[in-house]
Amino acid sequence: MQVDSPDKIRNITITGHGDTGKTTLASALLYTGGVANRLNRVEDGNAVTDFDPEEISRSMSIGLGLCHVPWQKHKINIIDTPGAGIFGAETRSGARIGDAMLLVIDAGSGIEVTTEKMWDWVVSHEQPLMIHINKLDRENTDYARTVVELRERFGRLVRPLQLPIGKEGKFHGVVDLLEEKAYFFEPDGNGQAKPGDIPDDLTDRIEQLRGKLVEAIAETNDELLERYFEEGELSPEDLHNGLRNAVRTGKIVPVTAGSAVHGIGSSTLLDSIVRFLPTPLDRATYPATDIGGDDIELATTADERPSALVFKTLNDPFSGKINLMRVISGTIDSDTAYWNSRAEDTEKVGQLLAYQGKQGTPIKQLITGDIGGVAKLKHTQTGDTLCGKDQPLKLEWTFVRPPAISYAIEPKSKGDEEKINDALHRLMEEDLSLASGRDPQTGEVLISGTGQLHVEIAVAKLANRYKVDVILHPPKVPYRETIKRPADGHGRHKKQSGGRGQFADCKITMEPLTDGTDFEFKDQIFGGSIPQQYRPAVEKGIHEARERGFLAGYPVGGFMVRLLDGQYHDVDSSEMAFKVAGSLAFKDAMSKADATIHEPIMQVEITTSEECTGDLMSDLSQRRGRPQGIEPKGNNQIIKAAVPLAEMLDYSSSLRSITQGRSNFVMEFSHYEEVPRNIQQKIIAEAQRGDDAEAH
Ligand code: GDP
Repeated sequence: MQVDSPDKIRNITITGHGDTGKTTLASALLYTGGVANRLNRVEDGNAVTDFDPEEISRSMSIGLGLCHVPWQKHKINIIDTPGAGIFGAETRSGARIGDAMLLVIDAGSGIEVTTEKMWDWVVSHEQPLMIHINKLDRENTDYARTVVELRERFGRLVRPLQLPIGKEGKFHGVVDLLEEKAYFFEPDGNGQAKPGDIPDDLTDRIEQLRGKLVEAIAETNDELLERYFEEGELSPEDLHNGLRNAVRTGKIVPVTAGSAVHGIGSSTLLDSIVRFLPTPLDRATYPATDIGGDDIELATTADERPSALVFKTLNDPFSGKINLMRVISGTIDSDTAYWNSRAEDTEKVGQLLAYQGKQGTPIKQLITGDIGGVAKLKHTQTGDTLCGKDQPLKLEWTFVRPPAISYAIEPKSKGDEEKINDALHRLMEEDLSLASGRDPQTGEVLISGTGQLHVEIAVAKLANRYKVDVILHPPKVPYRETIKRPADGHGRHKKQSGGRGQFADCKITMEPLTDGTDFEFKDQIFGGSIPQQYRPAVEKGIHEARERGFLAGYPVGGFMVRLLDGQYHDVDSSEMAFKVAGSLAFKDAMSKADATIHEPIMQVEITTSEECTGDLMSDLSQRRGRPQGIEPKGNNQIIKAAVPLAEMLDYSSSLRSITQGRSNFVMEFSHYEEVPRNIQQKIIAEAQRGDDAEAH
């Protein structure tokens, strides 16, 4: 659909823990908006936003899904993000593209790991947020209880906007507190509500909750508060604008109710989205850099110069490369040439498309704030800006690559190497947290992802989409070396072998950095004890030495070097000599800085039956695992633990044999921790054996 003004657009990112019903909710909203003629269930494999065969077979959303719902002459663009924490990087880039987040909570499970992570993210990025409590049809669910839990954890800004009518299997409608109106839904209907009278048994409760909501709205704005005190009530217009502003500025997080699978609460949710969530114009400005590299705040208005941010590249074996973009300012038209400011080249935009999952429909233009796609661009990739050539700019795009674990892969049939390379390249274009390269030590081809499931899915895509089979070898443990205390180091390189000699001398200090920075170099030389031209060579020498490692050949990080002093010789000094001196100073300092080894700790979740829990827990403790709790889930138990990656390399087969194949697990990177001393000694001995073997 085409809308004529940005204030008719809402861009919503749906997020939440896995299985809370995000994909089902997106399908339900499409059904209610008349896009689909029935509810497409996830189980039937035809949910609109889950369109990758890997997603269907694993019944979860992996990449960003995009669809839109026409509602009351508005276009609601929905970005359905993957819930599992492993794919968090995509979720976060999806969140930047939307103007508001809709956090889905499973009424049966309440607050889960991803709920908390997303909350923290939303708060730190000041994203407007609405919470939708889903699955209220299920047994043992209680809307009030979940709201209390949310308020206890996240604070009083969480406020119910709706109240459910009926409980569990009898849940059949919602009351809008602001309008004081009841809406009833047909069981398993299309989610369009019929207005009706508020049931008598709810009137007291509604009056009470409405009073609190009105008060909360009044408190967000001095003018409103004054009027509220004077008149004891606020006009419907004041309430509407007041709540809209409070949501936009993060002062109130409204809560809505529903059951996606039964279509209850769909139209009332769409109403609330249109009424209270921000429009693209509310963003006001977007950070960008101008052609000269100056930071600017670009006005997100229709009459600004055109600019669009490409936030996702998809590779489809049939239709080729598709780029999804959001227009930040001005308009983007079909069949028009734009400028790609990163590639510094013209890009011919052909037919623009509006997407319902994988289904693209041609549209003439995308106006400010709208989201759509285009096929077959030549140079454009995720994170790029398309703009006018005469006024180029770069829109801000930050993508933090999550730390990864690497597996070596090997083609099943020889001669497939090139095909694999090509296919991997396409997968990486789509998924920025996937990486591939060669192990510098062994020459093996590595594939890196955020966890084992992430990598397995990539391997399955290689097989199903690109018809190349690979063998996946156990991951290598990416140990890291670091230091525990400050130390100084001196490096002197002097050679006199006839002809021109070599001379360089430098003095450094080294200190630990604990803020996550890998390596920092500060030139603090006063006067000219080392001339300017040689100082970068010292840094380079240190950098190369740290990559080679000190204790066991793993890269050294988490430290700062200050270059303080040194000596040079007019004739014999060279960049090469200062590089060597730098690496000698590094080694000298390392030997005094209490060097140590850190290892990746994985967040592990095992789904198993109750009778296996005991065996699995004792197995985990032998793997140096720290249990973090056991939670029931349906008929199963979920064991959570933090375990060093080094102890998890053979876990798939152990788990299979302990539980006779009745369990499964996922793990993702959590953080780095110091390796216990006795194990460090083994790692160092192992590295020395490897070096000796190489020397022979
Ligand atoms: P996602 O991982 O958050 O996208 O969740 P899905 O949409 O895949 O849903 C997970 C499971 O919950 C599926 O089996 C759905 O059928 C089910 N589900 C979704 N919404 C509801 C609901 O409102 N009520 C009930 N009882 N089940 C639901």
